[in-house]
Amino acid sequence: MPSRAKRGSTSRIVVTGAAGFLGSHLVDRLLAGGHRVIGIDDLSTGRRSNLRDARNDPRFRLLRADLSTLSAIPSAGRYYHLASPASPSAYQRDPIGTLRVNSVGTYCVLESARKADARVLLASTSEVYGDPSVHPQDEKYWGNVNPIGPRSCYDEGKRFAEALGMAYRRRYGLDVRIARIFNTYGPRMAADDGRVVSNFIVQGLRGEAFTLYGKGNQTRSFCYVSDLVEGLERMMEAPGDVPTPINLGNPREFTVRQTAEMVAREIGIRPTFRHEPLPEDDPKQRSPVIQRARQYLGWSPRVPFEEGLRETVQYFRTVRASRRSPK
Ligand code: UDP
Repeated sequence: MPSRAKRGSTSRIVVTGAAGFLGSHLVDRLLAGGHRVIGIDDLSTGRRSNLRDARNDPRFRLLRADLSTLSAIPSAGRYYHLASPASPSAYQRDPIGTLRVNSVGTYCVLESARKADARVLLASTSEVYGDPSVHPQDEKYWGNVNPIGPRSCYDEGKRFAEALGMAYRRRYGLDVRIARIFNTYGPRMAADDGRVVSNFIVQGLRGEAFTLYGKGNQTRSFCYVSDLVEGLERMMEAPGDVPTPINLGNPREFTVRQTAEMVAREIGIRPTFRHEPLPEDDPKQRSPVIQRARQYLGWSPRVPFEEGLRETVQYFRTVRASRRSPK
């Protein structure tokens, strides 16, 4: 178990994947907490516009770089490693890049942290549980992952990253903390991300039918982004040894069809559906057990789905309106 005193300056924080959906919200939260933050992003799926506020803050710097060389990564006291395509459409578009950032990229982050004697938070995923045969999923479950299927670049990439993080803990006593992040939604999701919540909102606002994959009886649980990034910071800053990994997500579970109905209600339309085949290896059910997060981080999600949906729909309405208005 890691126990050494930390030498790295805790006032300087590196966030990889800083221009992404989660990364940018985390950067904003850390800046609001008075920290100096260096964001690293290759802008392959992240967007500069997500960092509009952060980039006006003199305590923030964005480095455009990929993570495959150590020299790309500055010394800091804390490393949040979020860089990776994360939506099924994005990671399946670039499976090799996804495997690379989660393997070589994670290696470079861990090596940098080892040299700086810093603390690391690895953003892992509920996808390490694959199509789970245990429900809901707690951290002791080893998962049910197809190692050669279309999702394996992400699932196995993250499993490799977890294994590497654990090896650094055991070998060097590096303080590596692993967050298994379940489905998260909120403002700054990309409209073309292919995620169920963003797809349904965008389709609903355009007056189109919702694309329902399979029968829509597969389940997910959705965590609002402000809750999630609070969980990440709590996990990073929890004093002493905390168990790792820890699930972060909202246990309230919906079928995909129920999700469509809730989005439709929020937008004020009647849902209609366009049926499409269920993607290969699509998990049938997913919901986190968050007992560890409650006990060791004092964390549980606070934003109800109805409320988070309202904010997210509002965000997409504003984005659409600003696209339509003359420059
Ligand atoms: N889904 C759907 N219609 C869409 C997008 C997704 O029915 O337009 C389904 C998808 O098959 C999956 C669930 O919604 O069962 C969540 O998909 P998402 O891509 O958001 O995330 P995942 O949890 O699969 O990584």
